[in-house]
Amino acid sequence: MTTIKTTCDHCGEIHLGPSDIALELGTSDTDGTYRFVCPDCFSIQRRPATSRVVSILLATGVSYAVNIESRGPITMFEVDQFAEALNDDDWFERFVSS
Ligand SMILES: [Zn+2]
Repeated sequence: MTTIKTTCDHCGEIHLGPSDIALELGTSDTDGTYRFVCPDCFSIQRRPATSRVVSILLATGVSYAVNIESRGPITMFEVDQFAEALNDDDWFERFVSS
């Protein structure tokens, strides 16, 4: 199985499989972001993906979604929504299925 090496803010270097990563692509350029849950501390992490990283991730079979609207920075409202969502017991299921 392909192993993808990345870093966690808390744990340092970690290894993930393609199914552990969700890639988000914008429509205007080839750059995107990818997110994953650290297998060691279970925190959700988000990283920018350059076009090179995007092509590597796609080649390993990472699932991806295209953002229809190009969007600006994350707003405080979204941060609040996110923090609120974490209070629910099923946040992880919803995170994985979204
Ligand atoms: Zn971690």
